[in-house]
Amino acid sequence: ILRIIMSLCSTSLEKARLFKQATVDGLTGLYTRRYFDVRLDEELHRIKYKGGEIFLLITDIDHFKNFNDTYGHQQGDIVLRELAGLVMNYKKEEMERIACRYGGEEFGIILINTNEKKAASFTEELRKVCEDHPFSGQKEPLKVNFSGGLSGASQKRILNAAEFIKRSDDLLYQAKEAGRNRIYEYGKEYRK
Ligand code: GH3
Ligand code: MG
Ligand code: MG
Repeated sequence: ILRIIMSLCSTSLEKARLFKQATVDGLTGLYTRRYFDVRLDEELHRIKYKGGEIFLLITDIDHFKNFNDTYGHQQGDIVLRELAGLVMNYKKEEMERIACRYGGEEFGIILINTNEKKAASFTEELRKVCEDHPFSGQKEPLKVNFSGGLSGASQKRILNAAEFIKRSDDLLYQAKEAGRNRIYEYGKEYRK
């Protein structure tokens, strides 16, 4: 009986390990893109039938290639891990989120159970928190910033996942074009 119990336990542990591997990015601890896509579909489905709104922030570190060229790839990895920590934990109690490593140095963050005003100010605060953060790894604290695109979906303005991602991604691109280290939000006018 003990042997059977031990075998069941080790199968469960192995399953849990595999699940974690598929859903959590090894470097940053953020969700993987694959898991994020599933959760984004679920959240869009939820607001379609139950109401409410969700917001999608896509971020991309500014001039990160230069950073890697200057300080090395390992130092770049430290920055990715620390920034992921800020993205996961900043105002954790106040803002519900699902955050993933969307691409190399791009993160995707779904903000849930919130509204446009709160989502926009949280996003801007997060940008500032990153800008002010002393990243570790060298004798001197390092400075890094990111650009972002933010858009929302609600029961009235329902989007499919691809449209939603494209909307935030296009805004991110505009934020880069306009000079970086800024957030562009859907429906807001910006002067270059
Ligand atoms: P931009 O401001 O336009 O975003 O410039 P950028 O240099 O950040 O943009 P680009 O897309 O040209 O380069 C992204 C860089 O991100 C290239 C790559 O070296 C770095 N990067 C991607 N994934 C990782 C990673 O896992 N670790 C480290 N250290 N760097 C990574
Ligand atoms: Mg990039
Ligand atoms: Mg970049």
